[in-house]
Amino acid sequence: MEIDDFDVCRQLLWPTFWTGEARTQVEEALDRARQGLRTSFEARTATFKGTLKWWEVSVAPVYDAQGRLHQISAVSRDITPRRNAQDAVTALDAFVAFTEAVGTETDRLTLIAQAMRVLRTSLGPVSAAYYELEGAWWKAQLWSEDIAPEIVAQIQSGVPQDAPNFAAATQAQRITLVDGWHAEHEHVSHAAQYGAVALLPTRAQGQGTALLTVGTAQAHAWTEREQAIIRAVGHSLDLALERAQQAEQLNVQHALLDARTQALEGFAALLQDLALETDPYALIRCAQEMVMSLLPDGNALYFEREEGLWRSKVQTGVLGEGVNQAAAVQAQALVDAGIPYDVPESLTVPWKTQQPYYHAKHNQTQGNQADFPDAASVQHVNTVASLPVTVQGTTLGILTFVVFTPHPWTPTDKAVMETVVHSLGLALERAQGIRDLARVSRFNELILNSVGEGLTGVDLQGRTTFANPAALHLLGYVAADFIGQPQHPLIHHTRADGTPYPRDTCPVYAAFTEGQAQAVQGEVFWRPDGTSFPVEYTSTPIRNQAGAVEGAVLAFRDITQRQQAETALRRTNEELRRSNAELEQFAYIASHDLQAPIRAVASFAGILDRKYGPQLDDRGKLYLRHIMESGDHMKQLVDDLLAFSRVHTERREPQPTDANTVFDQVAYRLQTDSPEAALTRDTLPVVLADPHQLDQLLQNLISNGLKYHRDGTEPQVHVSVQQDGLSWRFAVQDNGIGIEAQYFERIFEIFQRPHGRDTYQGTGIGLAVCKKIVERHGGRLWLESTPGAGSTFFFTLPGAAL
Ligand code: ADP
Repeated sequence: MEIDDFDVCRQLLWPTFWTGEARTQVEEALDRARQGLRTSFEARTATFKGTLKWWEVSVAPVYDAQGRLHQISAVSRDITPRRNAQDAVTALDAFVAFTEAVGTETDRLTLIAQAMRVLRTSLGPVSAAYYELEGAWWKAQLWSEDIAPEIVAQIQSGVPQDAPNFAAATQAQRITLVDGWHAEHEHVSHAAQYGAVALLPTRAQGQGTALLTVGTAQAHAWTEREQAIIRAVGHSLDLALERAQQAEQLNVQHALLDARTQALEGFAALLQDLALETDPYALIRCAQEMVMSLLPDGNALYFEREEGLWRSKVQTGVLGEGVNQAAAVQAQALVDAGIPYDVPESLTVPWKTQQPYYHAKHNQTQGNQADFPDAASVQHVNTVASLPVTVQGTTLGILTFVVFTPHPWTPTDKAVMETVVHSLGLALERAQGIRDLARVSRFNELILNSVGEGLTGVDLQGRTTFANPAALHLLGYVAADFIGQPQHPLIHHTRADGTPYPRDTCPVYAAFTEGQAQAVQGEVFWRPDGTSFPVEYTSTPIRNQAGAVEGAVLAFRDITQRQQAETALRRTNEELRRSNAELEQFAYIASHDLQAPIRAVASFAGILDRKYGPQLDDRGKLYLRHIMESGDHMKQLVDDLLAFSRVHTERREPQPTDANTVFDQVAYRLQTDSPEAALTRDTLPVVLADPHQLDQLLQNLISNGLKYHRDGTEPQVHVSVQQDGLSWRFAVQDNGIGIEAQYFERIFEIFQRPHGRDTYQGTGIGLAVCKKIVERHGGRLWLESTPGAGSTFFFTLPGAAL
């Protein structure tokens, strides 16, 4: 009783200690004792400290010596531990009963029916019902046979989702025990006879919620034992349902796996027959047939984009066969005509997302085919799947599968289609690889056959593995005598000088013995008729994919003609050089030797003029002046020619020369004759030049600038310079008459002058001398000019530090 102070119960009436059902039992036992009967029962009540305990109570009459009822004795024994043990055993029994009953069962409804059965056998006359939530209603799916038809009708049509106890149990997600059931509150008015109800939240299919309810009409509250049974069954049902759910998932996965394997095996078998098939459409047809064989009636189409339209390239099955003939014809016409790019979602979505697009129930009531240009023609289409066919990330087209009957795409269907389309992508990639390879081999063959070079291959034993037509032609062999034979002894056995060429020094073979390309000139190859021809060749090692050398490729060309041309060119150059030297020599000797007679003619003409000039008539005087002028001109010509030939004959080694000094000397000399001229310069560099020739160069260019000045303009010549890499670019600029562009080239040739001698004196040699000097120094001479404004002559010279 857990009494610390006995006074607490001194004045207490014993029955008041008991509550609820126990109180009734106690009162009944007392009555019976008064009638002289003895009663024992088990009851539950709380101690003085409030602990709920089970008691074994014995109430018996006590008689006095006279045999009269004198007292009533009541003995209460605490039996809580025994009762608890009993409840545990009962729960365990229910658990075992359920587990045994269901065995390895994985069907959800069977498990629930079993749970109901165990509850009813363990709890006695209880009713059970199983509800699933459909929209806003709990709808009964299973119920025990004892439930009255009107209640069945009510729970079948649904209990509102927010019925208080239903809602509380699902929210708490644990077993909820309701003592004193209010049928009205729960909107199941017909179920008013129940006194206590238990609600067990369970797993429905997928993510859904379900409730198992148990009700008893026998009592107002569940006893401990009953609660233990309900909990045990609820717990084991939960475990079994979890197992069922896992089994279900596993089954789905197995089915997917099976479908995939089946599709793959089928497709692989088909592809094996098409191992060398390179036509992509044949492969696509094969994939279509494969998938269609696993789906209900329908068809498959493969679309590619072409100039604004989706064009069907491969079709398996008739559009809408046996469904609606008129619509089928119309649909086929629509497909044949091509469908605009941006219209059907079933094509545009997978194209854009590169993901499969599944569409179920493609019919007008749902308005799903509004995206099709002609909705009526696809009325019979219930289900469509469109999958992008991609090769290395690029979508080639869209494969669509259409099923006529209403058929939601199952995960298995999807797995089949996706697996087949994936392997189709791989097959297409391989086919493309084969096509590319064929193209490359054809291309290579074409190159081998068309090049003029001889190309042959040798293996590690030195045997010829292949030879192109040019090689056979150049070497004078037919393939049968050449290919497969050791190459060196056939074509390379002897050197150009007739000495034997040992095989182990052969550079063709060195390519693979040393693993490095060899380029060789000055050797000869031999023909079977004993003739030879000079060759230039390269021998390059051939490596396999692992990088190991497998042989070499020899590329050679017959250089007979080139050698002949080179020899001819060398000879011509030599002749030219000799003739130039002779010419220069001749010019030098001629001009040198001519100087004396010309001087004699000039001086005698002078004497003649001085002594006999006055005696001559006008005509005689004119003749004499002509003789003197021609003599002067001839003298000038000879001097200039001499200077021209001396550019080479009297040259000195270039040395660092200060161009400022040279300019100043030239300017000084020229200024004496033309004091009115303005001759200026920038600070000039030190260049690598023959000082005498640099003087001559500047003298000629500056004096031309003065000579070809414009009437009425003070002549100005300015020399400037600019660095150009390692060399210097000089510019001699005047403000003279300028030169027309058509003469830019010619004026550098000897004796070429656009002006007559009567306008400007000259021999036409000055610029030719300049050009020779600049070129001798490795530079370039050119000009820019604006007629009437002036000319600038540019030349380059190598720089030098002093
Ligand atoms: P020459 O001055 O003796 O005629 P050049 O070889 O020096 O011979 O010049 C060739 C021709 O180039 C000249 O006849 C002249 O027509 C033209 N020429 C050369 N320098 C200039 C210049 N600075 N301005 C205009 N014309 C020029």
